[in-house]
Amino acid sequence: MARWGYGLGSALLQVGAAALVGALSGLPGAVVAVLAAAAVALPYGWAVARLDAYADTGRGLALFALDHTWSLVNTIAGALFLALNLVGGHRLDPAPSRHRGRIVVREQALPGYATTVGNVIAGLTPGNEAHEDLHVRQGRLLGPLYLPLVALGYVLCAACPLWLRRHDHTVWPITGPIRYFTHGVYPHVWHEAWAYRRDRLARREGDRNH
Ligand SMILES: [Zn+2]
Repeated sequence: MARWGYGLGSALLQVGAAALVGALSGLPGAVVAVLAAAAVALPYGWAVARLDAYADTGRGLALFALDHTWSLVNTIAGALFLALNLVGGHRLDPAPSRHRGRIVVREQALPGYATTVGNVIAGLTPGNEAHEDLHVRQGRLLGPLYLPLVALGYVLCAACPLWLRRHDHTVWPITGPIRYFTHGVYPHVWHEAWAYRRDRLARREGDRNH
């Protein structure tokens, strides 16, 4: 039964927060905010319940509390991302979601990439699991600062390519303007550089153990 409590609680907390923020601009603002939040919070709450995403344990409850207080903005962004995936016909992946504090979508949102927004991961595989989980943790750590800092990272890296000095052109060849972003900016923005560094260290650790 806990799963339905989590699901309902998630939807109510998201809609309640939106109502409070919307109310700052008066009653019409509150109504619009509630309707907009409900459109993404209800499918998200339903997914939380269906997937049994948060365990009925102290850890599950703590993650749920974190995701609906300090990290609530990330959770609402994840709910929007989930809604867009569901509208696009993408399917939930129950096994890797259950009791893991995350909502996994089978299909990739961007061809060739796994994407994590809040605790919603599209295109999770065993190979990218630790990398994408780190993005979930980064959001939980930085809370409402996370998405603005991610956006700032992209703006700085795109406008000011200091990363070119230490760019690995063998792994990420830059052959045109699109690759400047996908092979240049993308792996060097702070939150991706952190995650790719984790991947490299894990690979090195793995090599040592074999
Ligand atoms: Zn990443």
